[in-house]
Amino acid sequence: MSEAAGASDRDIVVVATRNMGKVREFRHALAPLGKEVRSLHEYPDAPEVVEDGNSFAENAFKKAKEIGDFLNLTVLADDSGLCVERLDGAPGIYSARYAGEHGNDAANNAKLLDELIRLRQGDDTEQPLLSPARFVCALALYDPATGRRVESEGEVEGWITSETAGQGGFGYDPLFFVPQYERTMAELSVEEKQRISHRGAALEKLLAKLNGHLNGSVNETE
Ligand code: IMP
Repeated sequence: MSEAAGASDRDIVVVATRNMGKVREFRHALAPLGKEVRSLHEYPDAPEVVEDGNSFAENAFKKAKEIGDFLNLTVLADDSGLCVERLDGAPGIYSARYAGEHGNDAANNAKLLDELIRLRQGDDTEQPLLSPARFVCALALYDPATGRRVESEGEVEGWITSETAGQGGFGYDPLFFVPQYERTMAELSVEEKQRISHRGAALEKLLAKLNGHLNGSVNETE
């Protein structure tokens, strides 16, 4: 059920997250749509969706559908994570709870460094770059009024470094070195991160599919 006050329901897009880092990035990217971008902070009664899919895309659509049906509003959900080559793709879809507690960024980063430094034992190079890695983001937009869904996926490649740097972003950003900027993701401005990030790439594809607007029903282009 929508608790919208003021704006018409058709002018609202709810991003299905309580993560303020993601909310900032979505607001920035979705500004050209001219929609009111809300987050789950405005809908405290929205259900907690169990992320039990086998892929980022399955989890993203599950979140968009369950929350969209509950709120009766257009919902944009993402599922994202970090895949580290030397860890055979871990933490992957388990990125948010890699160290146990959901969303504990400091504990997740500490565990990631522990695992990679353990693998490096016996290797006497002091190379600060521990492993190639990539961030992946799957997006799903679902409009319960029409039942339509639009999906996209984006990635960015980089390296896990042995020391954290930077205060920006969230999650694993302080450990994710971006070769083209020679800085970590946490040292980039929101605009710089948006230009190269997995979420930025997925959003760009989604916006292209939406053909620049969300008026009426979702307007997909192939
Ligand atoms: P989700 O909320 O299930 O999508 O969990 C995503 C998790 O992956 C977050 O808690 C972070 O640990 C990590 N993650 C996803 N995107 C980013 C990013 O842009 N920067 C840093 N970490 C990210």
